[in-house]
Amino acid sequence: MTLDVVTLLTEIADIGRDPVRGGYSRHVYEPAELELREWFRRTSAGLGLEVETDRNGNIWAHWGPRGDGTIAIGSHLDSVPGGGAYDGPLGVASSLAAVSALMEEGFVPARPVTVAAFGEEEGSRFGIACLGSKLMTGALPGAKVAALVDEAGVTYAEACRADGIDPAGLGRDEERLASLAAFVELHVEQGIGLADLEAPVAVASSILAHGRWRLVFSGEGNHAGATRMRDRRDPVAAMAAAVLAAQRIASAHDGADSARATIGRLVPIPGGTNVIASRVDAWLDVRGDTDPQTRALLEEILSASHAAAQEHGCTLEVTEESYVSTVNFDPDLQQRLVGALGGVPVLATGAGHDAGILAAEVPTAMLFTRNPTGVSHSPYETATDEDCRAGAKALTEIVRLLASEPRR
Ligand SMILES: [Zn+2]
Repeated sequence: MTLDVVTLLTEIADIGRDPVRGGYSRHVYEPAELELREWFRRTSAGLGLEVETDRNGNIWAHWGPRGDGTIAIGSHLDSVPGGGAYDGPLGVASSLAAVSALMEEGFVPARPVTVAAFGEEEGSRFGIACLGSKLMTGALPGAKVAALVDEAGVTYAEACRADGIDPAGLGRDEERLASLAAFVELHVEQGIGLADLEAPVAVASSILAHGRWRLVFSGEGNHAGATRMRDRRDPVAAMAAAVLAAQRIASAHDGADSARATIGRLVPIPGGTNVIASRVDAWLDVRGDTDPQTRALLEEILSASHAAAQEHGCTLEVTEESYVSTVNFDPDLQQRLVGALGGVPVLATGAGHDAGILAAEVPTAMLFTRNPTGVSHSPYETATDEDCRAGAKALTEIVRLLASEPRR
């Protein structure tokens, strides 16, 4: 029986719902995400795929014998806090649907095909995105990841044991990387490019350069009633000025439609209504078309933030938590995908993906399924059933194309 992508998503529709934020909170190695992992293993095994969990917590479902020249497809199962139903699971479900459609019609792949579910793509629990693919490629050392700590004080090393992962084995997976001939990730679009073009499916051209910085504004904690305005050193006021500066500066840089700056997370300390905070931690997310553009944008925002700190008698400390250069997907693979799909649109994306990490090692491509509102990382993220099926069908054609070529 052919698996339908919409039915597959319905099967997991009740797993990890977030009663407070709405949508889903499916964080790596927590019960909901573990349940999704079991669902993926069970569904893959039901198709006759051989399921394997690698030493970095990524799950692979192999069609046919494993070996060199493997065509990999897939995405991730975890979500941001209060995320949508499609970011991640759509790619995994579309991959299972594609394999099952090809099996059903009796297609025999000329090379190994595998469906991947990468671990901790969003970075929601341990703060760093694409941990599974970064571990696999060695972009992050195993020891560094093992020592990461979540908000409850649990280390990655402790957490990964929940899915039977031995933290001692974390790290670059040379053998697996060498076996992959291509990786194609289907993902719900996280913008309105396809809605604007009135097309259901696109091929990705590139991922914007992207970094995260931690900004710590320190001032003087004091009494909200007893401290005169002119005597204050209020880090919340400094931070607020920095937020507005980031917005103003990025908007002025937006000529190429790709400059983005966001402060979406703030932690005032101690965080009392009648207390002037002593410190605020803020996280700045900056993206741009190219590295120089992104760095220039960052420098401008940081200089405005330092000025804001000074103006309010505070200090500012900045730490780079992550930075990923612009990723240009494999041009040859991109062209073949566009050809096979009859000339679909080609779009850049501002969102990071495991495909962006793997692209450094393996010819990599992405497909996007239309998102009618462009909203993502939100309970309101959506895609129509018809478009989900069109995406799965496109992925089916891509697997047919790539897996038909004999290994060289
Ligand atoms: Zn995603």
